[in-house]
Amino acid sequence: MDTTSDRPPAGGLSGRTALVTGAASGIGLACAEALAEAGAKVYVVDLAAGPAGELAERINGVAHVVDLSDPAAVDSLPTDADIVVNNAGLQHVAPVHEFPPERFALIQRVMVEAPFRILRRTLPHMYAQGWGRVVNISSVHGLRASAFKSAYVTAKHGLEGLSKTVALEGAPHGVTSNCVNPGYVRTPLVERQIAAQSLAHGIPEEEVVERIMLDRTAVKRLIEPGEVAQLALWLCSPHASYLTGASLPLDGGWTAH
Ligand code: NAD
Repeated sequence: MDTTSDRPPAGGLSGRTALVTGAASGIGLACAEALAEAGAKVYVVDLAAGPAGELAERINGVAHVVDLSDPAAVDSLPTDADIVVNNAGLQHVAPVHEFPPERFALIQRVMVEAPFRILRRTLPHMYAQGWGRVVNISSVHGLRASAFKSAYVTAKHGLEGLSKTVALEGAPHGVTSNCVNPGYVRTPLVERQIAAQSLAHGIPEEEVVERIMLDRTAVKRLIEPGEVAQLALWLCSPHASYLTGASLPLDGGWTAH
């Protein structure tokens, strides 16, 4: 099969449909906006009905309010996506010996099983047309561990494995699959962590960012969600058709250590 001729129309993604999970906030929201701006119709998938509905209306997309920890709900999502951005995620911080097992299982369901279920149902559509893009929003924690984040680190490493396997299976069908691996991004998820750590350590929030979060990062600032979205968008462009099975650190030099 010729996998180079069937490209998105010049000038963007018009005619393409993108499914973005966790699209109501942070990185997912920025990805949904960037893909819509490039012309794609976006399925806005999120638990949060209000923000998902508002965004869908604003970008002329379609909201799908589902709990991704519910396999039946995941299996009710549309199968005709040309682009899938697996982004939804959550964090829980505790040492392994105190980590609640049900919380661990929930994180694997949302961050590993849901992406698998979404891909097993959307890949046949991508294969049938000889074009597809899978963008997995992983993390530096897909490549490196941090203490007290066992469920998150385990899930992100799992997502890395799924992404590489899909890259191998999808290549003959014009489907690429890659991970984007951000360091700390300025989103509600991280703002909650900054506030919690400021309380826990009794230090101002700026100090949490500078001393704790950016300790291993060479570029001493948080990343903005829009910067992550631009990399996701580029992965959907014709220029990126040879890039697959990769993990792209967007981490200000964290993993250069
Ligand atoms: P966020 O909290 O701002 O947004 C996450 C979105 O996912 C929310 O809209 C939430 O409603 C949705 N979501 C959570 N659980 C869900 C469920 N069960 N069903 C449906 N939707 C659900 O988070 P963010 O910072 O934008 O993170 C997005 C992704 O980026 C996550 O996978 C996260 O691990 C990853 N990431 C974030 C950072 C960071 O620093 N913020 C860094 C690296 C990777």
